[in-house]
Amino acid sequence: MTMMTAEQYEESLRKLKLAVYMLGRRVENPVDDPIIRPSMKAVAMTYELAQRPELEEIMTATSHISGRKINRFTHIHQSTGDLLKKSKMGRLLGRETGCCFQRCVGMDALNAVSIVSHNIDAKWGTEYNKRFLKYLEYVQEHDLTVDGAMTDTKGDRSLPPHKQPDPDAFLRVVERRKDGIVVRGAKAHQTGAVNSHEILVMPTLSMREEDREYALCFALPSDAEGILYIIGRQSCDTRKSEGGMLDQGNLLFGGHEALVVFEDVFVPWERVFMCGEFEFTGELVEKFAAYHRQSYACKVGVGDVLIGAAQIAAEYNGVDKASHVKDKIIEMNHLNETLYCGCLACASEGNREQSGTYCVDILLANVHKQNVTRFPYEIARLAQDIAGGLMVTMPSEKDLRSPKTGILIEKYLRAKSDVPTEHRLRILRLIENLTLGSAAVGYLTESMHGAGSPQAQRIMISRMADLEEKQRAAKRLVGLGDESPVK
Ligand code: SF4
Ligand code: FE
Repeated sequence: MTMMTAEQYEESLRKLKLAVYMLGRRVENPVDDPIIRPSMKAVAMTYELAQRPELEEIMTATSHISGRKINRFTHIHQSTGDLLKKSKMGRLLGRETGCCFQRCVGMDALNAVSIVSHNIDAKWGTEYNKRFLKYLEYVQEHDLTVDGAMTDTKGDRSLPPHKQPDPDAFLRVVERRKDGIVVRGAKAHQTGAVNSHEILVMPTLSMREEDREYALCFALPSDAEGILYIIGRQSCDTRKSEGGMLDQGNLLFGGHEALVVFEDVFVPWERVFMCGEFEFTGELVEKFAAYHRQSYACKVGVGDVLIGAAQIAAEYNGVDKASHVKDKIIEMNHLNETLYCGCLACASEGNREQSGTYCVDILLANVHKQNVTRFPYEIARLAQDIAGGLMVTMPSEKDLRSPKTGILIEKYLRAKSDVPTEHRLRILRLIENLTLGSAAVGYLTESMHGAGSPQAQRIMISRMADLEEKQRAAKRLVGLGDESPVK
């Protein structure tokens, strides 16, 4: 098959037998559930855009295994050019969907595992990379969406995995068998989990020998027996089930996260890519995190939508010519393009790993993500400033449609006389959706904590910034140190 259309993707999800729970009930048909469906439609865009000839360069790649054309989301980066196209693809999809399109975590996990499975084999003579490449071929051939699952529930944060009062606070092996392993635990905040065909599990932190049973990397079909999904609530999520065209803000797309529970799930050996090699957990976490920090190019695309919405709101209100409004729009663009610089920079400074995979520059990826923890909040603040308070006080769509109140809303909430009141309200709902509603999960809180909270990047920056070299440069200029030109 190699590349699916959006329709084929949707049909493929219907065949999965997922155990999904949401709002206290079992969801038998996630694909058509009104709350989940917009998130599926966002992933479907990763398939749809890959079919468009004018986007072929960005959305597709040539498999280094089969030589066939594949969706870039299943590709192992073979050059810095590939890394740059990944950043461009993220911005494009963020702009087209205005939300999290979910498929990057799988791409990032596949690339990180391609590097680390190779390195484990080089040290221990294992065959993880051989297994992984076979798995990758399967993913590429069927154009699958993979949930890259890293974050454990973690229990008491002051204790390592083996010292937790509940040993399942981190996902672990509970049984080793001739044909495979049995695992138990949970992964939290899993983006797009029920829109995925596969789940690729990685350890959540760097581990020591005592945590050997937690040093795990494996892949399973998302509907493997014993995997259960509990969908996370999002602000304003039930607005999606109310029907209508206004109150949900983004009419077309959304995202979702889930708590994924593994209740003694069997994994055959051919799908195990790390089992006990604790000394490689740190590298796997670091590589995945760096790739995923780069992936926050998506926030630039969502920022494009928010800036566009703020400009429209200003025009509809008749304030777009005011100099302070113009200046706020300039500031939003400045911040957004600064984010774009970061994800392009870490891509163009990428390096070839032993496995042949190209990895982003880790210091620059961390600096980029640190900016992502801040700038979208400032862009959102400016958008709310421009939008005005009506964004959070305006009546519902039902009141707009009601014969009694609709006429009053039409009259009193109109701004510029040539702009229909409803148009103004729709744009304000979109800004609400992005800064306070369900899309704020991706645009704001995920910008803060996704791919690691701010402190995680600060630790990496302090580890990787070459302070000694900076000191040497300073000393030389004032005649201090060994290389002093002044004798
Ligand atoms: Fe991709 Fe962005 Fe969603 Fe993460 S938040 S999965 S990087 S779209
Ligand atoms: Fe994320």
